[in-house]
Amino acid sequence: MVIVLNSLASSEQIEKLKQELEDYGCSVWPTYGKFQTILGIVGDTGKLDRDYLLSKHYVEKVLSVQEPYKKANRTFHPENTVIRAGSATIGGNQLAIIAGPCSVESQEQIVTIAQEVKAAGAGFLRGGAFKPRSSPYSFQGMQQEGLELLKLAREATGLPIVTEIMSVKQLEDHHEDIDVVQIGARNMQNFDLLKAAGQIEKPILLKRGLSATVEELLMSAEYIMAGGNENVILCERGIRTFETYTRNTLDLSAVLAIKRLSHLPVIVDPSHAAGLWWMVESLSKAAVAVGADGVIIEVHQDPSNAKCDGQQSIKPERFAALMQSLRAIAHIENRTL
Ligand code: PEP
Ligand code: MN
Repeated sequence: MVIVLNSLASSEQIEKLKQELEDYGCSVWPTYGKFQTILGIVGDTGKLDRDYLLSKHYVEKVLSVQEPYKKANRTFHPENTVIRAGSATIGGNQLAIIAGPCSVESQEQIVTIAQEVKAAGAGFLRGGAFKPRSSPYSFQGMQQEGLELLKLAREATGLPIVTEIMSVKQLEDHHEDIDVVQIGARNMQNFDLLKAAGQIEKPILLKRGLSATVEELLMSAEYIMAGGNENVILCERGIRTFETYTRNTLDLSAVLAIKRLSHLPVIVDPSHAAGLWWMVESLSKAAVAVGADGVIIEVHQDPSNAKCDGQQSIKPERFAALMQSLRAIAHIENRTL
């Protein structure tokens, strides 16, 4: 960190500030100029409060030279993290393909889709039991019953289950039944939920918030990791922009940014990004080509009668064909599927 002091700073104030920073365990390297004094701060600057420093009338600027996230930072952990979920992994050479309906609707629906996506080569089953809907009048998910049906689908296929949890209470009650706990875009900055997720050992699939920057996403991952759970998978699922043709704008450059900044695995959700079923296949291929560690795709046997997100769901046959294309792209990228 670098603190720039203006000409109003008296030598007593500089000395006092220096002492204060040293009391936080930091070393201070001052450079005295005619109009400005520059303090170079080394050590654990994470505890220093930028706003407190800026509240002093003689502090001109506070510049961070290091990212505010530490555990998620690639600088301190150069190798890619590989996360285990049941017998599967996310973040290694093998791509994680997560597929299934937006929401669980019935036993027949979820077990059949699970079998179909498994036969096509998916490694994980997705399906929402607790659904975050924009309207309180929309289908809210089958809740606990949906979770029981997901467990039956897991039993029938052996696929690990990925499902969203929306509250601390739901997390406490159900995390033991789930293989990968999804924290959705709308809860990316639900800090109580992130802290609670830090207390469990299950992998957390953390989706990027609707208007969150890459740094904010990484700070949310940091919350979970700081609590002790380092099994975090990040997900680019489209962000809100001025464009309205698609539901969101898929930010594929975020995958590259995250890969450079962090060692955590990153997957892409083309379904919620585009909101249009006919874009899902091309965007999935682009995601693998850009270096994502996997994709999460909504698949439904009868999209026009789906209880949720039918407009962006592809049918199992299309999913199977997509898997073939992804296999070819994975091969070019030296990955397996
Ligand atoms: C979902 O995966 O079903 C979902 C609601 O996703 P998001 O939080 O990205 O909108
Ligand atoms: Mn959905």
